[in-house]
Amino acid sequence: MALQKEKTPMKSQDPKKRVNNFKEVPLGYTDEEAMQEAERCLQCEHQPCVNGCPVRVPIPQFIKKVKEGEFSKANNIIKSKNNLPAVCGRVCPQEEQCEKVCVMGEKFEPVAIGKLERFVSDKALENEGDKDIKVEKQRDEKVAVVGAGPAGLTAAADLAKEGFSVTLFESLHATGGVLRYGIPQFRLPKEIVDQEVELIKKLGVEIKLNTIIGKTLTIDELFENDYKAVFIGAGAGLPRFLGLEGENLNGVYSANEYLTRVNLMKAYKFPEYKTPIKVGNKVAVIGGGNVAMDSARTAKRLGAKEVTVVYRRSEPQMPARNEEIEHAKEEGIEFKLLNNPVAFYGKDGTLTEMKCQKMELGEKDDSGRRRPIPVENSNWIMDVDIVIIAIGQRPNPVLTQNTRGLETRAWGGIKVDDSLETTRKGVFAGGDVVTGAATVIKAMGAGKEGAKNITKYIESL
Ligand code: FAD
Ligand code: SF4
Ligand code: SF4
Repeated sequence: MALQKEKTPMKSQDPKKRVNNFKEVPLGYTDEEAMQEAERCLQCEHQPCVNGCPVRVPIPQFIKKVKEGEFSKANNIIKSKNNLPAVCGRVCPQEEQCEKVCVMGEKFEPVAIGKLERFVSDKALENEGDKDIKVEKQRDEKVAVVGAGPAGLTAAADLAKEGFSVTLFESLHATGGVLRYGIPQFRLPKEIVDQEVELIKKLGVEIKLNTIIGKTLTIDELFENDYKAVFIGAGAGLPRFLGLEGENLNGVYSANEYLTRVNLMKAYKFPEYKTPIKVGNKVAVIGGGNVAMDSARTAKRLGAKEVTVVYRRSEPQMPARNEEIEHAKEEGIEFKLLNNPVAFYGKDGTLTEMKCQKMELGEKDDSGRRRPIPVENSNWIMDVDIVIIAIGQRPNPVLTQNTRGLETRAWGGIKVDDSLETTRKGVFAGGDVVTGAATVIKAMGAGKEGAKNITKYIESL
């Protein structure tokens, strides 16, 4: 049989229909489609794809099982390394990770590793997940994990598999971190997050919600309560603002607040759920990353007539995944590239207009991207009733300011050494709280590394 050059396509909801609902956009593979895609894997002996994955999923091995129709065995192989595969199969930037180094990609399209991972884990979740994974070891020591995002959930799961008694403390009333309050339902259904978290609980992880470490309980109190080590995966949940005139007008949201209202508090079901959100007719989203795409696509689904992404660089420099940019375009989102806001104006305290300035690209900056430079006398006015600012996040200082001996970097990230240990003995940290806003799989990789090093640390006590 001739080698199929392109990825087996995955069906997705029609753009005209999906802008009116919050249901997931890509619909998943059928058994036949998954097996067809699995045929494309060359089973390379040196398996570069595995090195491209921060948690080292045994990719050729699980794909071989898919090819043979042994889906449950494929799931066990994936779960040996990845505690949240149905999440990763959906939101991992595969094009920058495992698929970037896939040998098939040298001449043709890479194997659709992420889509296959999603297929296998969805299938397992339909059959109540990985019944085969058991915790055999038992140890006496207790470990505390702070934050139930991808970093904390992964660290907790791996520490539980090591036999420790693990308590996961989460400040919100729900688990998942950004998976819950940031990434919208149409990209990552919350039922998937719930199901994967349930499997982590089955490993023996105890989850305490509504507990802010640094406020409800301090790190000192955790040690006093006989926890031998702590892993901090508190993320970067504090939004950055532009610092412009009019930024506090009604109608200017941070993406963080906007998405939290919709995803966590279910504002899209108001008044059935109590949190409201202003829908607006003309919405501008500032930024060019995944957060900006998610905000724009959410605004469209809430019923806004015109949604425009305003970004200071051009499309090749946009940090959002290509797939998300394409989906946004298909859904009718407009893009005003090489433009930047300079002020917001309103009437009676409510936003009505945004002043923008045109930009051009200069020399490369520290990020390796060409620096945007304002074009003189190029200001123009855009009518808007909602602006969503999606220009980045940094760690919330509540925990670090209330913990003795925990050093941070100038931007608020926690300092760690190569073993992810902080400047406080027995306290490890990983994920966005260390790196700044990054990716789900990098946070999970840090959770895994943290769990491994905490195990070594406790064994050395
Ligand atoms: P988080 O997910 O932020 O989780 C931290 C958790 O800690 C939260 O639940 C928080 O409530 C809790 N917490 C904080 N402080 C405390 C405290 N003091 N005590 C107790 N609990 C605390 N990445 C991708 O790979 N693909 C994507 O498509 C993608 N899309 C994104 C879309 C949006 C809208 C956003 C905001 C981010 C997106 N990212 C994406 C980035 C990715 O979600 C993050 O890099 C990842 O979630 C970081 O994981 P984390 O566990 O470090 O932190
Ligand atoms: Fe690729 Fe992400 Fe899956 Fe790893 S977890 S194999 S990087 S899709
Ligand atoms: Fe298969 Fe690509 Fe990995 Fe080779 S590099 S084993 S083709 S997924």
